[in-house]
Amino acid sequence: MESARDKCTGEIIDAEQLWGIERVDPLGYECRGCGALVTPCSYRLENKVRPYFSAKNGHNDNCDVEGEAELVKRAQKQRVSTRDGFPASFPDRLVLRDTRPVADADGTPTAAASAKERRTDGASDVRPNRHWAAQTIRPICRIFLNYPYDRDIPLSIPGITGGTYQHIFHSLKSSRIITYPEPHLFYAPISWKALLTEGDYLEIQLNYGEWKERKLIHPYRVKVSWRN
Ligand SMILES: [Zn+2]
Repeated sequence: MESARDKCTGEIIDAEQLWGIERVDPLGYECRGCGALVTPCSYRLENKVRPYFSAKNGHNDNCDVEGEAELVKRAQKQRVSTRDGFPASFPDRLVLRDTRPVADADGTPTAAASAKERRTDGASDVRPNRHWAAQTIRPICRIFLNYPYDRDIPLSIPGITGGTYQHIFHSLKSSRIITYPEPHLFYAPISWKALLTEGDYLEIQLNYGEWKERKLIHPYRVKVSWRN
């Protein structure tokens, strides 16, 4: 499983967020569909496999998370939403927050600094629910990719225009460079070029942009500030 609910905060976290948690509690997570205990796995940086959650003792009855793999398989070929709506739970908003420990002037972490205590999202995520808040764009991207015919489901991202998955995500133009007037989650294939690292920035070249005589002369580039 790629996400689970933090028992302490009620928030749903993506498995790759485990990379950023200092002390991962092996008993601290439950299935977001049925509340069964799930174990965080492969979250050490040296692990080759990406982090995930495992329901070692299985799921409880009526857990929709368990059937998700089947649903995704079907969703690749056809729309799976029905008159009753979208059949799985999904993130319908992005709530960014800084979960790095905050230290006092003398360097000791403050009591309220732990991610678990920094609950800012209300109590609605405690019970199993169909819509949840994602803390990174990763689970949002996964839904976008997994359900290509159901992208009219709601999504809101602060500062981004659009209220559904299909309106939030925008493919960059493959053959030219355009200035886009509105902020969206833009996407394009990554090129086979090595990453560029320069000072405070990391740069990833994309495979879309301005072409001349079958050569990409001005690619779109993603510039990531990694200073902090
Ligand atoms: Zn479950």
